[in-house]
Amino acid sequence: MRKLILLSIILMFSSYKIHAQKPAKPTSSNIYEAIQKLNFLGSVLYIAAHPDDENTALIAYMANHEKARTAYLSLTRGDGGQNLIGPEIRELLGVMRTQELLAARRVDGGEQLFTRANDFGYSKHPDETLEIWDKNQVLSDVVLAIRKFKPDVIINRFDHRTPGTTHGHHTSSAMLSVEAFDLAGNASAFSNLNNIVSPWQPKRLFYNTSWWRYGSREAFDKVDKSNMLALDVGVYYPHKGLSNNEIAAISRSQHLCQGFGRLSSRGSSKDYIEFLKGEPLQGSNSIFEGIDTSWNRIKGGEAIGAILYEVENNFNFSNPSMHLPQLVQAYKLLQNIEDKHWKNLKTKALKDIIQMCAGLYLEASADTHWATPNGLVTINLEVLNRSNTPITLVSIKKDNAVSISKDIQLKNNIAYTFKEVLKINENREPTTPYWLTENGTLGMYKVNDKNLIGLPETPRVYNVDFNLLIENTPITITKPVIQRYAKPDKGELYRPFEIIPEASVKIPEKVIIFNTSNQKEIPVVVKAGTNNIDGYLELNHPEGWSVYPKKQNVSIQNKDEEQTLVFTVIPPENQHEGYISPALHLNNKTFSKELIEINYDHIPNQTVLLPSESKVVRLDIKKRGENIAYIEGSGDVVPESLQQIGYHVRILKSNEITTETLSNFDAVIVGIRAYNTLEDLKFKQETLFNFVENGGNMIVQYNTSHRLKTDHIAPYNLELSRDRVTDENAEVKFLEPNHDILNTPNKITAKDFEGWTQERGLYFPNKWDKAFTPILSMHDKKESAKKGSLLVAKHGKGYYMYTGLSFFREFPEGVSGAYRLFANMLSLGKDNLENNSKLND
Ligand SMILES: [Zn+2]
Repeated sequence: MRKLILLSIILMFSSYKIHAQKPAKPTSSNIYEAIQKLNFLGSVLYIAAHPDDENTALIAYMANHEKARTAYLSLTRGDGGQNLIGPEIRELLGVMRTQELLAARRVDGGEQLFTRANDFGYSKHPDETLEIWDKNQVLSDVVLAIRKFKPDVIINRFDHRTPGTTHGHHTSSAMLSVEAFDLAGNASAFSNLNNIVSPWQPKRLFYNTSWWRYGSREAFDKVDKSNMLALDVGVYYPHKGLSNNEIAAISRSQHLCQGFGRLSSRGSSKDYIEFLKGEPLQGSNSIFEGIDTSWNRIKGGEAIGAILYEVENNFNFSNPSMHLPQLVQAYKLLQNIEDKHWKNLKTKALKDIIQMCAGLYLEASADTHWATPNGLVTINLEVLNRSNTPITLVSIKKDNAVSISKDIQLKNNIAYTFKEVLKINENREPTTPYWLTENGTLGMYKVNDKNLIGLPETPRVYNVDFNLLIENTPITITKPVIQRYAKPDKGELYRPFEIIPEASVKIPEKVIIFNTSNQKEIPVVVKAGTNNIDGYLELNHPEGWSVYPKKQNVSIQNKDEEQTLVFTVIPPENQHEGYISPALHLNNKTFSKELIEINYDHIPNQTVLLPSESKVVRLDIKKRGENIAYIEGSGDVVPESLQQIGYHVRILKSNEITTETLSNFDAVIVGIRAYNTLEDLKFKQETLFNFVENGGNMIVQYNTSHRLKTDHIAPYNLELSRDRVTDENAEVKFLEPNHDILNTPNKITAKDFEGWTQERGLYFPNKWDKAFTPILSMHDKKESAKKGSLLVAKHGKGYYMYTGLSFFREFPEGVSGAYRLFANMLSLGKDNLENNSKLND
C-alpha cells in the first residue's frame, strides 16, 4: 500500500521534460506553475559528490518557490556504496542511483547532471581523491557543466576549506566548484571545450552551510550570519497541496537503494547559504540580486514577456486552451531570438505548455520493449486534441526517415490511432549506459563522444516527430518510442524501448573457486534477442586451465528464449587465477556480452550490456573444522563464499542460538554489523562465549562504532573506533609472524595481501584487553599504524577473534589471500585427528 501511495505521488509530479516513461497528466495548476517557470529567467546549479548528498529541500525551494531552473551536479553516480534493496553493486549500482537521482528530480523539479568521476569508495582526504580521479578531467567536466547550464548562482553542498573532516569526494566537489567558478568565464581556460560550449561566468557562489558544520545548534546560533542568507524552505504551495519540505522528503525517499525512505515534515524551516565568491549582495534577500530574471534579460524578449505575463496574470484554470493563440504568438516571436541558449530552453518549455493547454495527447508505443538491429517493430500511435483549437496533424516522422503525410484535422476529444512499422537500422548500437561502453580507470569513466559527457543517461535513439499545425503555426513535438502495456496485478505500465543484440551470453556464477584440482561443471546461458538463432559457443579460458567440450552448438527458436550449455572446467594443480568468458558465434558475428536488466518499481527499467566474464580461482588452501554457524547482520555473501570452498554453513537466527544447537558446530561467524542491526543478539552473548570456552571458535566481523546494541561485544574488553585503512594496497606488517593464525594450515605471506579490493578494512578496535593478541599492522598514507584489524583471544578451550578486515568485500571478488587467512582463523586450535581426516589434500 505504501508503495502505491508513493507511486501516485511520483505520478503527480512526473515531469514531462525528463525521460519519465509514464506521460504526465498535467492539471491546470501544473500548467500554471509551468507558465510561472517559463516567465522566470534565472538559474541555480547545486554541486556535490554523490547521489544523496544533495539538499532536496533547497533544490525544491529553488525550483518551486524561486521558479528558477535548478540542477544538481553530482560528480559521481554513487557506484561505490552498498545496495539495500537488490543485488546490483559497482557500475550497476551507479546505473541504479543515476535513475534514483532522476526520479528525485522529477519530484523536486530539478534537473540532473554528472561528471565522468567514478565513486571508487571511501576516501579520507581530497588529496587522495584528486589523485585517483583525474583532477583535470573532473574540473573540465565541472567547467563544461557550468558553461552548458549557464547558472546565475552556484551553491556548494560542502565546505572547500575543511579538507579531512568529511569524505574526500565531498571536499573535492567543493574545491573543484570554487576553481571552476573562476575558470568557466575565461575563454582561454579549457579552450578545448569551445566547440561545444562558450564561456560563462556565474554571478555568485555560495556554500550551503548548516549547524552541523559548527558542531551544535547552540554554537551555530552564536555564529555571525552577516555573510549568510536564511531561506525558509518550509514554504507551502497551495497549487500542489504540499509544503516544500514535504516535496523534499518525497524526493529524498527516491534513494531507496540507500535506504532513504523518510518521514516528511511541514512548517517553517531555515536553510542557510554562505556567500563565497562573485558579486556581493547589497543587503537584499535574493540570490538573484542584480540579475534581470525577467524576459527583458534577452534581446527581443520584451515583446514575448508582454504576452506571457498577461497569460500568467489572467490564467484561466477552467479553460487553459483559451490561451493558445497568445502562446503560439509568443512561440513565433521566440523563434526569432538570437540567443540560442534561451531560445532552445524556452522553446522546449513553451511547446510543453502549448501541448498541455490543448490537452494534446501524443504517444508512440511499440508492441515490444526491445528489438534487435534489422528487426521490425509495430508502433501504435495515439493522437488526441482535447480543445476547440484547430490543430492539424500534418505528418509524422520516425527515426529521422522521410515524413509520412497524415493531414488529419484533430477534432475536439476524438482519438486518432494508427500503426506504423519501424525497421531498426542494422548498424544501430544496442542500448546501454554510455559511460560503461569503454574500460575506464579506478577513478574515471571513459567517454569518447564529447557530446555525451555530463548527460545523466544515454539519449533515446528512437523518437517520433509529430508535425502539427497549431493556430496555423507549424510546431513539431517529439516523443520517445516507449512500450505501454498492462499487468493484471499492477495495471498500466510503461517501459523504455531499447535495442538489444541478436544474442547475449552469461555465466551465472561471477567468481568460481576451485579449492581442489577437481573439475567443475560450469553452466553458460545463451539468450536469443531474435527468433531462430543458430551458431556455436566457445568458452575462453586462461592458460593452464582446460575446458571441454571446445565448442557446443546453439540453436534457439524464439526471441527471449534461453539455452543453458554446460562446460567442464579443469583447474591447474597449483594456485592460479584468471577469467573465463563465453563467445557465441552466429553468422560471422561474435557475441560476448551479458544483457543485464535492472527492474524496480521506483525507476524506469534499465538495460545494461557488459562483457560476460567470470573469475576462476585455483586456491591452494587447507582447512580444518567443517561445520559453521553464521549469524547474519546487515547482509553479506560470506556464507556462500565459504560454501564454495567446502565448508558446511548454516544460517542461525538469534532465537536459534542455544548451547545445544551450537554443539553441532566447529565455529560461529557473526556477519557484518550484526551488533548494529540485531536487537536480541546481546542476550545470546553468554551462550556464544560459553561455546568458545568449550572449544569453539567465534569470529566477529566489523560493526560500526556508533549505534552498537551492546557494550559487551567480546568476552574481554574491546573498544571499536572509526579507524579504517582505505588503501587496498596498504602494506601489511605481521606483528606475530609465528602465530598459528599466520602459519597453519596455510602459510600466510605478503602475497596473500595482494589483489585486495576497495579497502583493507574498517571500524578497527583501538583499545583492547591484554587477553587479545593483535596480529597485523597497517595504515593509510600519513597515518599512524593501526593494529586492530585482526585480534585473537584464547578463551577457555577456544578462540574469540574480532576482525575489521573486509573479508565480505574480498570473498565475492575471489581474492585468494582473504580465503586462506580466513581458513586459518576457522582452523585455529582445530588440530585433532577427526577433523584432519576431512582435509582436502
Ligand atoms: Zn556523499
